[in-house]
Amino acid sequence: KVDSSPLLPAPGHWLGVMGGGQLGRMFAQAANSLGYQVAVLEPAADCPAGQVAQHLVQAGYTDATGLDALAARCQAVTTEFENVPADSLSRLAEKVFVAPNAHGVSVAQDRIAEKTFFVASAPKSGVLPAPHKVIASLDDVAAIDDALLPGILKTVRMGYDGKGQVRVKTREDVRAAFESMGQVTCLLEKMLPLAYEVSVLTARGADGASVVYPIAENVHRDGILFTTTVPGPNVSADCARKAQDAARAMVAELGYVGVLCIEFFVLDDGTLVVNEMAPRPHNSGHYTIDACVSSQFEQQVRAMAGLPLGDVRQHSPAVMLNILGDLWFEGDSAEAREPAWDRVLALPGACLHLYGKDDPRRGRKMGHLTFVAATLEQAQQQLLAACAILG
Ligand code: ADP
Ligand code: MG
Repeated sequence: KVDSSPLLPAPGHWLGVMGGGQLGRMFAQAANSLGYQVAVLEPAADCPAGQVAQHLVQAGYTDATGLDALAARCQAVTTEFENVPADSLSRLAEKVFVAPNAHGVSVAQDRIAEKTFFVASAPKSGVLPAPHKVIASLDDVAAIDDALLPGILKTVRMGYDGKGQVRVKTREDVRAAFESMGQVTCLLEKMLPLAYEVSVLTARGADGASVVYPIAENVHRDGILFTTTVPGPNVSADCARKAQDAARAMVAELGYVGVLCIEFFVLDDGTLVVNEMAPRPHNSGHYTIDACVSSQFEQQVRAMAGLPLGDVRQHSPAVMLNILGDLWFEGDSAEAREPAWDRVLALPGACLHLYGKDDPRRGRKMGHLTFVAATLEQAQQQLLAACAILG
């Protein structure tokens, strides 16, 4: 069952992934490239990861028969989405090596557990989260400290891409938002004056060795990641070091194995604030595929297989643009059209990754586009040229 010797790449060796989205697809591509076969567990018959994997276990994420089938085929299992039921990971872990484990994932998928962890690890990490308060009842709303307003009310579970969040100015706003979300447990966070946002991608092996990628600067639009730029134009060397040290301290504290991404805010006065973490490869780390020696997906493979971690060195400045379904629609048109990829691909340094989704919808992540160049300015210029083409 679970021994500590590495799972060497070989045709008979299978890696499993919970979830069939684009992160699972890029994980499968990296695993295949190293010589492993990949099995995906996902309820949907046609999914981005299932299209490239060697085997699909079509089952719900808590389906015992499906989980056992995945465990029987694979020697190690990982997850590509943060809301994977922790109990499912525990069940898999009785039979195969699972990374990240149920503990790491359960901290990251619950904003209260996450904030509690950030506060508890602050003496070692040197960073704190935003001031916050749990809102579990209307009484909690009545007891809000004015210092937390204006703020953002976030559902404790299942939030992503800005979903499950309402911006609030007054106690009355909080009450209305809490009621509109069906009074599920929420966290009220003080709205902070953000200068910019960064993320730190780390990987840690079962032997405790860890690596940290260069810090990435992220721009969000409508709560969804819009661009990632590395090196970040605003990031000072001091800020980068502080965020990287904090990330290293936090993964060690968690005893985490695998790829973990930690998001930070940098405030107008330069203070670094930890926002949230994702227990998996992250959208802001997609640039590593084209700009670093080992991608974040290859790191996940290496960590779960017990292999040495890869080289995080960035060989080219890079800027990544998320490709949303909106690009398929002109103005208010309901008619979808194909973006002019041929013209985009003519631009120097263009690396296009589409996820195999055949029904574009507004706000849906369809792919991403990374530009690499000798200088960051050149990469940014090509990105602007691509945006002009894509409209
Ligand atoms: P998600 O899980 O949807 O990514 P986040 O907590 O990261 O949720 O919030 C999404 C975005 O909303 C952040 O990237 C940031 O731009 C903004 N945001 C979230 N919390 C705060 C805050 N306390 N103050 C200011 N902006 C915030
Ligand atoms: Mg976020």
